[in-house]
Formats: sequence, structure tokens, C-alpha cells
Amino acid sequence: MQFVDLKRQREAIEANLNRRLAKVIAEARFILGPEVTELEHRLASVTGVKHCIGVANGTDAIQLCLRALDIGPGDAVFVPSFTFVATAEVASQVGATPVFVDVHEDTFNIDAASLDECVRRVRRSSDLKPRAIVAVDLFGLPADYAALQAVAEKYDLELIEDAAQGFGARVGDSMACSLAKLATTSFFPAKPLGCYGDGGAVFTNDDDLADLVRSLRVHGKGTNKYDNVRVGLNSRLDTLQAAVLMAKLDLFEGELDRRNEIADRYTSALRDHVVTPTVPSVYRSAWAQYTITLRQDGRDALQEHLSRAGIPSVVYYPKPLHLQPVYEATSSIGSDCTVSADLSTRVLSIPVHPYLTDEECTQIETSIRDFFVKR
Ligand SMILES: *Cc1c(COP(=O)(O)O)cnc(C)c1O
Repeated sequence: MQFVDLKRQREAIEANLNRRLAKVIAEARFILGPEVTELEHRLASVTGVKHCIGVANGTDAIQLCLRALDIGPGDAVFVPSFTFVATAEVASQVGATPVFVDVHEDTFNIDAASLDECVRRVRRSSDLKPRAIVAVDLFGLPADYAALQAVAEKYDLELIEDAAQGFGARVGDSMACSLAKLATTSFFPAKPLGCYGDGGAVFTNDDDLADLVRSLRVHGKGTNKYDNVRVGLNSRLDTLQAAVLMAKLDLFEGELDRRNEIADRYTSALRDHVVTPTVPSVYRSAWAQYTITLRQDGRDALQEHLSRAGIPSVVYYPKPLHLQPVYEATSSIGSDCTVSADLSTRVLSIPVHPYLTDEECTQIETSIRDFFVKR
């Protein structure tokens, strides 16, 4: 059993994929070719956002947003401590300082109350200027943007949605990637919508910010790439990757339904033994991960038990960012992040990819139940 089974997915898209790839290779427009523009239009339409801009990866996508907002040295960027390092790394890349905020125990997402307290602390006891919040749709569940927007307005902060794991998720009728002024996603192969290498995108309804991001992704170009009006990056989405993504996009809704079906059955089967993920009403998760939280210790033993049964599992994330060596110096500025630290010792993600068979799901459920019954 695979944690994410891209080979089974390939069987489902093979003919469509090969046709699209052959066309790109025959036409030889490998950088920002017509497929990139077509994909951008399709993603803008799917998410209901005016502009989608394909970029080299999900990390650059966030960095480009910070640059477009002119965030840099002396600025504080508030990020959850319980996330992948890229969310904080981009603040450092532009010379700003990431400030770590704690998360909700039930949704794993950034806690607006902890954020409010953190902003006040930074204003009171540091020289940093609070500028932006990067909220993460962790494991595919959108953060609480209504609460975050209120804090953003209170302190005049920019709000960015890191939907690297959230593409396809929804809050009511609003899609992930449309939930903040600027939003980003990643097409890393294991994400809900993944390509065959690195890729990412920026989303915004703001025409000026979209123009800035389009300039920044091609070396800060002006009217053309040999007219350079600002310092930018080389951060374009490959045409071949756009073709892969379009082949996958044709199946995406069906895959998302299957992920939700699997998540629902896991929750019914496992809720007596572990804390199962919370999905607040009106939210739909993209289920990048299905993450259980153990009520007591024993995670290593459970992982070993699963591994003996041939079931892969992964700890996302074993060390929250405020405890990472690279952020030792700055972590004292932020919140204590006790929830993040506690979660990192108790969470375990199990396979939830859409190509799991019902038999495999039953095997996973039975194996986890057996572990707790025998204890
Ligand atoms: C994967 C991920 C990123 C970075 O995406 P890349 O495409 O790998 O650069 C950023 N934030 C979160 C939350 C992620 O999971």
C-alpha cells in the first residue's frame, strides 16, 4: 500500500496525459507556453478568483506574495507554528521575521486569539512592524478566515492564504485559494492537485497585485523580460507541468469526492479510539492528509504496528516551527505555542489518497482498532 499512490492515478489519466504531453513536446513552447495560460484560466474559474498565476513551486508562490506587498526587513509576518517550514521560510527569504502563532487543537489551524495576542506582544516589546499573516489550510481544511480577517483589519495587516494543501477545499460556496486577498497553492506531486515535479500558483482578485506577481515571477520584468524594473525571481510554471495538471484537473472533483468518502468512513470507524479530524459545518476539506490524534502516548508503537501490517503512516509534523533550530533566535517573540508542541507528539497521518480500495480502507481501520483493543 502506498501513502499516496500516483501510479494508480496515472492509469486513470494515461491517454489524456500522453496526448497533452506529446502536444507540448511537438510545439516546443516549454516556458510559459499556451498550456500555462489555459491552466491559469481554468484554475481561476474553478476557484472563482479573477487572476491565477502559475509559478515554480508553492514556496515561491508565498514569497512572491510577500514581495508584491513590499514586505521586507523590519517587518513581522505571523505564521502558525504547526505547518510545513516553507510558510515561515518565505518571510526570512524576503528579510522579514516570521513570528509563530499557536493553532487550534481541533482544526490544527492558526488560532485568531493567539494571533491577536501575538500582534500585541510584537507591538509592545519588539522593533518589528506587524505587516502580514500567512494562514495555512492545514491538511486540506481552510483556516477560519472570518476571524483572521477581523484581526487583520484591527491591526492593518495583510492576509495571505497558504492553500498548498487546500486546493479544492470549500467554506460554504467559497473555494480555497479565494479566501484572502492573496492566496497560494503548491502542485508538489503529493498535494491534492499535484504535477510531476515542482509547481505552484498565486491567486488574487486585485489587478495591481496580479501585475506585480507576473512581473516578479520573470525577473521583475517591465514591458518585456529585458526591461527590468524591480528585483524578481525566476519562478515560472513549466508548460509540461501545466499539461500534467490539466489532465489531472479533469478527474479532480471525483478524486475529492472519494477522499471525502474515505475520510467519513475512517471517522466513523476510529472515533472511539482516537481523536478524529474536525471539519466545522459548511467546510469541505481537500483531505491532503487524514490526521488522527492519539489520546495517550504510544504513537511510535502504533506506527510500528501499522508498518508490520504493510500500512504506511507519517508524522506531520514531528517538530513545530518555533522549536526548530533555525528559528531558535526569533521564536521568543511569538506565542508559547503549547498546543502546537503537544500536537506534534500525538498526531499521525494515515493514507487517504483517492485510489485506496474499500478493502485497503477496511484493513487500515481494522489494524488501528486492533492496536487499541489489545492495549
Ligand atoms: C508543500 C507546502 C508548501 C510548499 O510547497 P512547495 O511546492 O513544496 O514549495 C508550503 N506550505 C505548505 C503548508 C505546504 O504543505
